[in-house]
Amino acid sequence: MELSCIYCSNESFEQGRGSEEHAILSSLGGRKTSKNVCCVGCNNRLGKEIDEDMSESLSFFSTMLDITTGRRKRAPTQKLFGEHEGKKFDILAGGKIKFSKSNVDINEQDEGAEISISANSEEEALKILSEVLKKYGKSIDDFKDLEAKSVRSYIPRVSGCIQIGGEKQFRSVAKMALTYLATFVSPDRLRLPEFQSIIGYINKEGVENSFVSFTTEEPPSEVEPISEINHRLIVSSCDSSKRVVAILEIYGNIRFFITLTEDWSGPSTSKAYTIDPVTQESREIEVSDAENILCLSHENGADQEALRTAVGNIIESFQQRQMSEEISKLVNKAVANHISGKYESITNKMISSLASEVALEFIRMIHRIDTEEVIDLKKLNKPNQSDK
Ligand SMILES: [Zn+2]
Repeated sequence: MELSCIYCSNESFEQGRGSEEHAILSSLGGRKTSKNVCCVGCNNRLGKEIDEDMSESLSFFSTMLDITTGRRKRAPTQKLFGEHEGKKFDILAGGKIKFSKSNVDINEQDEGAEISISANSEEEALKILSEVLKKYGKSIDDFKDLEAKSVRSYIPRVSGCIQIGGEKQFRSVAKMALTYLATFVSPDRLRLPEFQSIIGYINKEGVENSFVSFTTEEPPSEVEPISEINHRLIVSSCDSSKRVVAILEIYGNIRFFITLTEDWSGPSTSKAYTIDPVTQESREIEVSDAENILCLSHENGADQEALRTAVGNIIESFQQRQMSEEISKLVNKAVANHISGKYESITNKMISSLASEVALEFIRMIHRIDTEEVIDLKKLNKPNQSDK
């Protein structure tokens, strides 16, 4: 069967041979697709026009969670996202912090210079130091008795701007819901007059929005979450009310309500797709009772406050993940210091010194207390040799 592109109707393609449209944007970690919706030209055009805005404004989460697209592309680095003691830093995929290049302060004095370097690790600081010394025609070896101090700071909360909403994003949301519908209804249905309004809205700037709004409504209870940051998309059609509506939940918290049509001429069907953007674990189910979402209307849309709470919840669940990673790192380090390989049996004394180090580090982390320790440049100078 030959299908016309629903967005331009100039192009056509064999059924199942159209451009690959994602039900949940690939940049958000979605994988389910339909090839019965549109042509390559329209997919690219709408991708640039509306989807890019959506993925860019949510890219902070994609970066923090280290989400890769279907083509294995990693989330972008968030440039100059925060500042710590006057030094700007980027956030890399996975939430790692990287100070931007120019983090060397040289304070020249009569009898020498004080060099202060901000880096992400002692190895990196040392590398930068030898670069700086090279400019003076020196190497670290010339400074055997040099006094060096390492100050470790816990980075304060990052600041940044996450903008959610607006026409482009709402159109992108509508497109996702329509694309998901396309994965389970016969392709000619989407080309009936009943979908002309929503297609017109997705397709062109400036069409009045009576289709998409924020909502605080939960997806039906049978659509169980996979994780606290999963995406859930439920599309539901009803033969008696003639409505096709959808709820799209992004990162477990931000929810949109979408009306796809109010002139549905087909049968009642409800389906839900859930995917964890990090693990890629996904699930698709038939929903037997979508009554609660079928009678929703856009007047019930969520207010600013609900949206703020939603974004706050995502950041909180992310912080918890980071926190447990940090804790396991500091526990591992403490174990290495007090136990690993030194003795054959573990004594009570070792346990208690381990526990007090962990407790101390934990308090430093929670209260973001800087620590200062003297570092041995000679030892650090040859990190590769000390590994052997
Ligand atoms: Zn087209």
